[in-house]
Order: sequence, then C-alpha cells, then structure tokens
Amino acid sequence: MVKIKEIDSIKSDKLDMKTIINKIKEILNSGYQEEAIVVKDNNVIKKHEIYWALKYLGTKFIAVSNEEENVKVSLDFLGFYDEVSDPGIRVYNNTIELIERDRPTPLVKLNGIINDKKIGIWAKLEWYNPFSLSIKDRTAWYIIYNNLDKLSDKEKIFEATSANTGIAIAAISSILGKKTRVFMPETSPDYASKLLKIYGSDVVREGNTTNELIEKVKIYAEKENAFVPNQFSNIFNLLVHLRYTAKEIDYQTIYGKLKLNGIFASMGTGGHIAGLTFYFHNKNKAVKIFGIQPEENGTIPGIKKQDFKNWWNINDSPDDIYSVSLEESIDVLITTARTNGILPGISGGAVLAGLKKAYNNGDLDEGDYVCIIPDNGIKYLDEIYNERVL
Ligand code: PLP
Repeated sequence: MVKIKEIDSIKSDKLDMKTIINKIKEILNSGYQEEAIVVKDNNVIKKHEIYWALKYLGTKFIAVSNEEENVKVSLDFLGFYDEVSDPGIRVYNNTIELIERDRPTPLVKLNGIINDKKIGIWAKLEWYNPFSLSIKDRTAWYIIYNNLDKLSDKEKIFEATSANTGIAIAAISSILGKKTRVFMPETSPDYASKLLKIYGSDVVREGNTTNELIEKVKIYAEKENAFVPNQFSNIFNLLVHLRYTAKEIDYQTIYGKLKLNGIFASMGTGGHIAGLTFYFHNKNKAVKIFGIQPEENGTIPGIKKQDFKNWWNINDSPDDIYSVSLEESIDVLITTARTNGILPGISGGAVLAGLKKAYNNGDLDEGDYVCIIPDNGIKYLDEIYNERVL
C-alpha cells in the first residue's frame, strides 16, 4: 500500500550522482513521482535513485510502499514548492538559518531599461543573501553542508575565488569553527581582502584569473589537509541553483502570474545558469535561458566566457549567448539607479545590458523576462563612478 511520508523520516544509502541527475531530469520532465520508493522500517530498499532525486529536488514528502508499485503523485502534491514559499515571521535560531530558510530572494519589476510596455523586466535580487551579499552564498553553503562528512577531520577550507564565494566560505567557516584561506587574483576588489581578514580568513593574492589558481589551491590543500569546495566543478554548485534559484523563479512567476519567456544570467563558474538551464529545459521548455559573457578581450568582474564542451555534464547549454562591454554594463547600471533607485553590481549590469541587446536585435517576445542580479553595486562603487566620470 502506498503511503505519503516526510522525506526526512526515511533513510537511504548514498548513490552515484550520475544516476541521481538522470532521475532528476526524468522527474522534472514528467512533473510526477511515477513509482513508489520501496521501504522497510523507514529505510529505502529499492528505488534509491527516486529517493535521492526527490531529496535534491527538495520535496517535503515522498510516496513509499513495501513493494514495487506504480503511482502518479505530482511534485506540487509532494510539497515541492514549500521550501521556497513564504518564510513567515522570519525569526531564526542562528545565522545559518538565514540561508537555509529565508527564501525566496525578491523578484522586482524594473522600469526604464527598455521602452516597451509589452515586455516586463524582473530583477532577481541575489544580494539579499546573508553572508557575501551575493548569489555565491548559495553555492558555498550547499557545497559545504553536503560535504560535512569530508570536512569533519579537517580544520581548514581553501578555495580559489574572485571574491564573493571566498567571503561566503569565510563566513560559513566562522560558524563551523574552521579556518579559511582564500586565493584571489590581483584583479579582485580590495574591499574583499579587508572583509575576508575581518572574518579571520587568510588571503593569498596572485595571478590575473581564478583559472590560474585552481591547481595551486589543490596542491596547498593536499599538503595542509584542507577541504577544497571547488566551486568550478562541484556538482552541488549546480544542484543548489536547480533546487532553489530556479525553483524560486518558477514559484514566483507562477504565483506572481507572470508570462515567463526567458531568464538572463551571467556566467562565472556557470553554476547558476547551468542549474537554471537544467531545470527549465526539463520542466518548462517555453522558458529560454540567455547567457551573458564579456565581449572579446573585455573584462567584467565575476564573469567569463564558457567552454560548453561537457559543460557541467548536463548535455545541454543556454539557448543563446550575448556579449557585452564593461561600458554598456555600467551605462545600464546608472540608468537603473536613476530610474529605480537600486544599484546592481557590475555583472548584474551586464545581464541587463544583455537583455537590452536581445531586445534591440528583435529577439524578445511579448511577456516577462527575469534577470539574475548576482550582487550589489556598492561593492564596485569606485569602478562604476570612475568609468562614467560622474
Ligand atoms: N557575478 C558575480 C558578482 C559573481 O561573483 C559571480 C561568481 O563568482 C558570478 C556573477 C557568476 O556566477 P556563477 O559562478 O554561478 O556563474
């Protein structure tokens, strides 16, 4: 007989990620749990892959049985959206709950970016995350908390980062009583070194890009028995955006009654746009995903051109890519500040500049578009101010 149980009341042995990812894809495509998870004494004995897929999709409930059985239970019924809906009175017992429970981040309509009433532009404000005041809190938190077993006998965490991930890791390390060493390129903003030191982190500044530091970090970590989250290829960087960033947008646009045509996002590790791509290309193909990269030979803090070969092992990629310049990104930031009273960070400006480009190319249809704003412009005040010589 099939029963609906809270997922946290059932235990299962770990499974390889490839099998889980394939099952996640299948469930997102159908929108249903189609087979019962076979359990005995609250332990999974068959259909482990369904259990883990639903676990990483974040349903509150699962359908279980003592024997193999077909079922048809919708994700909605299993409490799929519960974890991204109203956080209520927002009273939390400790600071980690700010990232675990205080969601979704806001989605706000912007005016004055393009002159067309038929197209709605909605900014998803990721600086509402608590530690680095950026989207990278999600990545740092999910990688670390899904690797607590590997971390338990280690005192240190080492990571290469352009700034935000390092700050998020340093903050979370403080909560866990661990020590962090952050490896940042010389090009990273100065405020980041100061903030990291305030958090008690060691800071190493070397090279021009994070790519140059990845191997170095691994070598130091081996010598000093440190844990390396490795945001550049850790699957939890994709899974956190699948489970939360993407699901939040899905929930907010469904219940906010938007006609979601597409999502614009910048790309650094590619973690958040890969999560969005995987989620929407399987769950709702009407939603197109647009990636934003710096123009040839240009630099924009936190983002870079992607190599889409074997990209995050999802056999998929964004629907289109737009290249933008630093100047275009900063121009739209100033417009946003002067028409909406908020100042996104530079990569957020790049995303808005990419949307403008898509509009000017005639690539946008009537309806709504979400732009992911990774952090806030106060972090880049001098760069924004000096670029425009205000
Ligand atoms: N924007 C900013 C400000 C960032 O710090 C980052 C990544 O560090 C990104 C965009 C890109 O995000 P992702 O690594 O998820 O591609």
